[in-house]
Parts: sequence; C-alpha cells; structure tokens
Amino acid sequence: MTKRIAVFPGSFDPVTQGHEAIILRALNVFDEIIVAVGVNIEKRYLFSVETRTKWIKQTFKDYPQVRVESYTGLTVDFCKKVGSKFIIRGLRTSADFEFERIAGQVNKKLSSDIETVFLLAAPEFTALNSSVVRDIVINGGNASIFVPEGVIIRPEDLEY
Ligand code: ADP
Repeated sequence: MTKRIAVFPGSFDPVTQGHEAIILRALNVFDEIIVAVGVNIEKRYLFSVETRTKWIKQTFKDYPQVRVESYTGLTVDFCKKVGSKFIIRGLRTSADFEFERIAGQVNKKLSSDIETVFLLAAPEFTALNSSVVRDIVINGGNASIFVPEGVIIRPEDLEY
C-alpha cells in the first residue's frame, strides 16, 4: 500500500498544545505528517520561521513520522512537491468552519485530487489559539501551560 502522507499547514506562531493534539491524532490516520510552516509575505509573525520550525521539531523529536518544513506559496503546490494528497486542518468553532470552507473549496478547485481532512478540536483546546499565546507573551505573562512541553519562549525570540 502506498504511504499516506498528509500536510498540516499553518503559521504556528507559535505552536500550541492545540496543534500538538491535532498532529498526534492525525498520526492515527496517516503514515506521515509534514507540518508545513507557512511564510506569507503579507503576514507579520511574532516569531521567525526558524524559531517556529525549531519548536515543532523539538516537540516531535521522538516521532520519525512527523517532518517539519517551511514553505511559501500555495499549500496545494507544496502538497504536490512533497507527494501528499491530503491537507489536515483543525476545526474549533463555526468561524473556523466558514474560513476553512472557503479555503477548502478553493483548494479543491485548484487541485481536485487533494482532499482537505478536518479534525475537530478537543473541547479543552477549543479556546486555544496562537494569538492568545502571543498576547500573553507580549504582555510578559507565562504561556507555558498553552504550548507543548519543552517549548520555552524567551524575550529574545520575539521578532518585534
Ligand atoms: P493559520 O494561520 O493557517 O490558521 P494556525 O497556526 O493558526 O495557522 O493554525 C493551523 C491549523 O491548526 C488550523 O487548521 C487551525 O484551525 C488549527 N488549530 C489551531 N489551534 C487549534 C486548536 N486549539 N485546536 C485544534 N486545531 C487548532
């Protein structure tokens, strides 16, 4: 059987326990997960792509089935490049659904052989997103309970 490779794209600015939980669950469905750290020239990130990538690699260092790469451009083009026919996205709320519906339907038009697969957020992670973590960090709070174990955010990691 051919290996089922899925791409989990996102900003991961920074990675949270919500992302970590989705990746761990996706490993039950796919043979390999490529976490694709987006670099979008129109977006301003709090953490550099190197730092965002480093934290995810560190989180999954014991999982050879999880690869972490950065990418620019269209997610469907990245999927083609790495030989993946699946995009994983997490769904927390109906707002996520509306956003993902558009992205998923557009991606389907762009590339009809790529499927977007949605995993529902676990209830304990529904309120968790990277912008909450960024807010805490920017205001000098301790965000460690929201990020994967071992991810230490230091003031010098901030880009602005
Ligand atoms: P993007 O800028 O592409 O939305 P994010 O890093 O914010 O990037 O999110 C990447 C993916 O992870 C998205 O599919 C998002 O819905 C999902 N996600 C983020 N936080 C959570 C969470 N707490 N629970 C489940 N899924 C999540």
